[in-house]
Amino acid sequence: MSRMYRVKIAGRWTEAPKWALDLPFEVRPMRGFTVAAWPHWRPTLELLAKATARAKRKLEWVRIHDHTGTRREPAHPFGWVVTETGEMFLCSYDKGTALHELAHLISGDSHGDAWARRCFELHRIWLRGAAIKAADLEVTRYLSGRREWKRRFGERPPKQPVPKSSWVTAGRRAAAAGR
Ligand SMILES: [Zn+2]
Ligand SMILES: [Zn+2]
Repeated sequence: MSRMYRVKIAGRWTEAPKWALDLPFEVRPMRGFTVAAWPHWRPTLELLAKATARAKRKLEWVRIHDHTGTRREPAHPFGWVVTETGEMFLCSYDKGTALHELAHLISGDSHGDAWARRCFELHRIWLRGAAIKAADLEVTRYLSGRREWKRRFGERPPKQPVPKSSWVTAGRRAAAAGR
């Protein structure tokens, strides 16, 4: 575990590692965020820093959640972004969710064709191997994503199961490993 620094972020005292304080945007952990949740977030937040710089976009702050140990799906979206102000909220720490939100920030589009196309492009820049297809498939939950899949691959995408938050899937993996 990295050394923690006690800092005041958005009016609230919190413990954060140096790598999080060095990011080009302010990271705002939710109330009750535990220090054990930081490592989950590191690869995704560092990716977001590199990807926003490359796209010449600016994020002011990113609010992040901690649902360690949850068995139930959190009752709110995996992510959200306000493109005008550069404010992002992430619940699920998988890279695909961050890239989904970044595609909104870059394209200025909601879930239309410009957004879907940008998602597929971002997956190919920032993800590797099987993670690319998995993230593409997530985007095919939207009509625009199905159109983009068909445009690229010439066939309809397979139907997707109901998405699970990374907190729930990690919890399941941990439970399976403990058996
Ligand atoms: Zn959440
Ligand atoms: Zn979206």
